[in-house]
Amino acid sequence: MKVLKFGGTSVGSAQRMKNVAKLIVGEKNIIVLSAMSGTTNSLVEISDYLYKKNPDGANEVINQLARKYFNHIEELYSTDEYKTKARELVTYHFDHIRSFTKDLFTLFEEKEVLSQGELISTGMMNLYLNEQGVNSVLLPALEYMRTDKNAEPDPVYIKEHLSKLLQQNPEADLYITQGYICRNAYGEVDNLLRGGSDYSASLIGAAINASEIQIWTDIDGMHNNDPRFVEGTSPVRHLNFEEAAELAYFGAKILHPTCILPAKVNNIPVRLLNTMQPDAPGTLISNEMEKGKIKAVAAKDNITAIKIKSGRMLLATGFLRKVFEIFEVYQTPIDMVTTSEVGVSVTIDNCKHLEDIVNDLKKYGTVTVDKDMVIVCVVGDLEWDNIGFEAQIVQAMKDVPVRMISYGGSNYNVSLLIKASDKKRALQALSDHLFNNK
Ligand code: ADP
Ligand code: ASP
Ligand code: MG
Repeated sequence: MKVLKFGGTSVGSAQRMKNVAKLIVGEKNIIVLSAMSGTTNSLVEISDYLYKKNPDGANEVINQLARKYFNHIEELYSTDEYKTKARELVTYHFDHIRSFTKDLFTLFEEKEVLSQGELISTGMMNLYLNEQGVNSVLLPALEYMRTDKNAEPDPVYIKEHLSKLLQQNPEADLYITQGYICRNAYGEVDNLLRGGSDYSASLIGAAINASEIQIWTDIDGMHNNDPRFVEGTSPVRHLNFEEAAELAYFGAKILHPTCILPAKVNNIPVRLLNTMQPDAPGTLISNEMEKGKIKAVAAKDNITAIKIKSGRMLLATGFLRKVFEIFEVYQTPIDMVTTSEVGVSVTIDNCKHLEDIVNDLKKYGTVTVDKDMVIVCVVGDLEWDNIGFEAQIVQAMKDVPVRMISYGGSNYNVSLLIKASDKKRALQALSDHLFNNK
């Protein structure tokens, strides 16, 4: 059995839903769907209004969104019977969303609101398949997808409850389920964070020991650079799990960073495919490694660099520990680290406690902060005895000011910290130099 996940754009209109239906019928797989594109953003906007105690603002967005869904229904279904069923489904969910405009709004209600997008898209797809004579069965994610007290997925619970649901529906032609949504350790509705449907797919893949996890989106696989900023990118046909994890973590939006680990641990290949061009080969992510090749570049935004300079650091044991402890106290993960004899530079992407961190660090040295930075990450088989790749990277970046460089933490990436305003030209220069022979 395979797991096939279709993202927001892939189910973003009635026509796209029909295209997805054509791709999924004929094999008994588990199909994971996101909300239709734009829906989760609208649900976030509705929640914002409700946090700000502006129910009129929320109702305006709700009505607009509901209208869109009623239009989709007219286009998607051909019989009155199914149009009526779909209208009932959509009305039920929008009534539920509206019920939160009348009372106190907290994190708990927000999670409920955010979960409605996936509940609607999967309900609509299931009805469409039924109308087409396909015996699809809905597997409610809220009955098997669980996180524990540390907000980490609970693989034992997921496996047990998902297996039970599958056993209860052996006659199904295929299964449809919601990405992104789950229950937390307290049984409340929760989610796996924005973009988390990819994570749902790989957790499900691991739970059923799938033969393959397919992530269907709007592009032909992982490109060798971010196509939103760079011209002349091309698909990478094969990636190792480690390379894919680095790219996802460092900003390749096509894949949610959490998605790789469950697949890697269970050795389940992940294929990235294009719903708009289903015959294109896409990208295969597996344990195989192509030797000695630079594969792709990605960039992670909103990075802050912090430098702590201290005359006392020279030969001082415990200096780094004290510095890192401060970040630990404020629960702020560090991405990059570079050291010299007189100081250390680190980067963070969560600035919630920046002021406190800087205040505490001042005990140990002079602190400088650089905001609006970007980590550019070059990924491939970069073992240290593969000579020449550092020179190629540095040569490509010869006109771009670089604040930090890091290599050696893994065999798979070289990271460079630059100003956000230099991101586009840096990415383009790397593509031109590393991949396009310019
Ligand atoms: P979905 O809604 O299907 O989850 P996403 O928008 O999350 O889709 O991811 C697909 C998008 O990721 C692409 O449209 C593309 O703009 C962007 N993207 C960023 N970096 C890359 C990359 N290296 N390769 C392919 N796509 C990328
Ligand atoms: N619908 C959710 C989001 O937009 C989850 C996902 O699409 O992966 O973030
Ligand atoms: Mg996505």
